[in-house]
Amino acid sequence: MPNTHVAIVTGAARGIGAATARRLAADGNAVAVLDLDEAACQGTVDDITAAGGKAIGVGVDVSKGDQVEAAVARVADELGAPVILVNNAGIIRDNLIFKMTEDDWDAVLGVHLRGAFLMTKAAQGYMTQEKYGRIINLSSSSAQGNRGQANYSAAKAGMQGFTKTLAIELGKFGVTANAVAPGFIQTDMTAATAERIGVSFEDFIKHSAAQIPVARVGQPEDIAATIAFLASEEAGFVSGQVIYVAGGPLD
Ligand code: NAP
Repeated sequence: MPNTHVAIVTGAARGIGAATARRLAADGNAVAVLDLDEAACQGTVDDITAAGGKAIGVGVDVSKGDQVEAAVARVADELGAPVILVNNAGIIRDNLIFKMTEDDWDAVLGVHLRGAFLMTKAAQGYMTQEKYGRIINLSSSSAQGNRGQANYSAAKAGMQGFTKTLAIELGKFGVTANAVAPGFIQTDMTAATAERIGVSFEDFIKHSAAQIPVARVGQPEDIAATIAFLASEEAGFVSGQVIYVAGGPLD
């Protein structure tokens, strides 16, 4: 079934967000590529338009309410009512709890949780008006706890409760909300983790792959494919779920 909706993907200048934006556009949606730096969105926008799709780039810090309001209004103005929202923007500020600063905590909770809250609050009105919507939030296998990530795992566990509540509140308007929880995905984020723990990215990938049942690490396209299903019209009876996409069982 073709999907011809307007989608917003945050943190879509690179990594999982960029792959998701490309995939949603390939599925027929017009896509707003949101990221901190508008110029950095251009690569993803160019990929989409070169493939025959429709996209715009919008600069926004998702943790700032006024910027979020303006960005979502601009998307509605330039592309139409956004009814697909992928809350993907993310950062890490890893440290063991005794070294973690208040800034490390606030920055991570601010982008992931506050950012998802602000984006969803700004976009949900369009969805309820259209009586149709798909919200997909990025959680993580780290929601189950991960050394050095007290802030990040709290944020990613929080994303799951946030998602389930959205599913309960917005279901009657034809809006579904689901969380995708990736395991190890090969992006700049996992490259930064390798650097922090002092191993080469190549060794980090090899070591991680050896512990994953499908014997490889994930690629951004693995996550984009799962998000594309949840964003599709035919996924309308799937809501409030957390789908681990980690190459093996997690719950
Ligand atoms: P990434 O390559 O680091 O990309 C994240 C993007 O988010 C960057 O373009 C970044 O912009 C943008 N961003 C950061 N803060 C922002 C803000 N305040 N407002 C708007 N955009 C902002 O990360 P990724 O690996 O693709 O991860 C994407 C999502 O998946 C994140 O939520 C992450 O937590 C989650 N995830 C990733 C993995 C993994 O293994 N990679 C596993 C589980 C979950 P800048 O470049 O300007 O900083």
